[in-house]
Amino acid sequence: MLDKVLIANRGEIALRILRACKELGIKTVAVHSKADRELMHVRLADEAVCIGPAPSAQSYLNIPALISAAEVTDSSAIHPGYGFLSENANFAEQVERSGFAFIGPRAETIRLMGDKVSAIEAMKKAGVPTVPGSDGPLGDDEGDNMAIARRIGYPVIIKAAAGGGGRGMRVVHTEGHLLSAINVTRTEAHSAFGDGTVYMEKFLERPRHVEVQVLADGQGNAIHLYDRDCSLQRRHQKVLEEAPAPGIDPEARAKVLEACRQACIEIDYRGAGTFEFLYEDGEFFFIEMNTRVQVEHPVTEMVTGIDIVREQLCIASGLPLSIRQEDVKLNGHAFECRINAEDSRTFMPSPGKVTLYHPPGGLGVRMDSHLYTGYTVPPHYDSLIGKLITWGDSREIALTRMRNGLDELLVEGIKTNTDLHKDLVRDGHFQQGGVNIHYLEKKLGS
Ligand code: ADP
Repeated sequence: MLDKVLIANRGEIALRILRACKELGIKTVAVHSKADRELMHVRLADEAVCIGPAPSAQSYLNIPALISAAEVTDSSAIHPGYGFLSENANFAEQVERSGFAFIGPRAETIRLMGDKVSAIEAMKKAGVPTVPGSDGPLGDDEGDNMAIARRIGYPVIIKAAAGGGGRGMRVVHTEGHLLSAINVTRTEAHSAFGDGTVYMEKFLERPRHVEVQVLADGQGNAIHLYDRDCSLQRRHQKVLEEAPAPGIDPEARAKVLEACRQACIEIDYRGAGTFEFLYEDGEFFFIEMNTRVQVEHPVTEMVTGIDIVREQLCIASGLPLSIRQEDVKLNGHAFECRINAEDSRTFMPSPGKVTLYHPPGGLGVRMDSHLYTGYTVPPHYDSLIGKLITWGDSREIALTRMRNGLDELLVEGIKTNTDLHKDLVRDGHFQQGGVNIHYLEKKLGS
């Protein structure tokens, strides 16, 4: 087992990783910016190192500072969490070259999946269903591009190969707009991501976002941990997630789960990962793979009983997977509400001092949060301050517990989006299950 892990992240996920390390008897090193001295995991870690000023570029994204912190503390591995450097292949490479284990896939896998064109190609080869599209980057020949769009059928979407976070995409409804859309997306992709490669896909009009969690040990063993539905999104940001995804065609589902498992073996995947799909009319379409632990991983943990971060640590220690596919059993249903320090209506961030924090509790209720009364939420980072997760034997019970949990949750001194969640968990369509990715924005009238 690893001896000492440096946690290259902050907030709730840093605390989540720290807990998993403690359970395994692994020592922990917290690294933090000058604005983050008061973070809960910094207090709880065995050692703490300040790696720079508040702006992420100078601290949490500062590769030399992170590697030196690992060196001075004699750490054996680095856990990148999510966001920040978690999907940065150069970081993974430098970590491993410096003699530390990177808790995630090999750098070349991150690179393969970070480029959407190569990711789609690899998935197609592995038998994972993809969106009908250009099958590779678009060239400069206008006639060819028009022919591709006609073959796919309008509407189509032009996407940047290096895009992320919902940026670098443009929907085209008619042929008259195609060529200019390709040019604009190319130019934008070039300036935003330093790579002007674009590709084309069929634009699905009312899909759901359904994703598959996997674990693989890089030694030929891989398992899937079933699916999650993350269709409730605003500006491509997930707001509320659940596992398993309700009302999915059982045959299509069984096929896609097995395809993901096989794909992991095919690409020699190592670590935890997520295959993201759009799901429409009973069919799955791969859009991208996330090569890290995800914010919404707890809903899967609740319905499978498998600690995903613990498994990441075991895999990075070189242990073969101890769980076989047939041992993974779905039990009940789980929801997660992302609690953000922001106004429920305007979505404006609301940093500041938390004058009272009271997390909900009880059977089937889990709060993953770094908050405590007296903590000041700094203005420099993501507004996620916690995740309320509930589990129940049935979807109804899990949802009832979420309603009650949200009512119990008290965060005073700053604004949170709790009212938005209270509204959502009482929404008739959401209660039925299976709303599509446009539902939340439509409901919000934006
Ligand atoms: P990113 O890496 O920026 O998250 P994705 O490829 O995952 O990019 O796409 C982000 C979002 O854009 C999806 O969740 C979906 O809402 C929308 N999207 C992407 N591709 C399509 C498509 N072919 N049809 C419809 N919507 C799409």
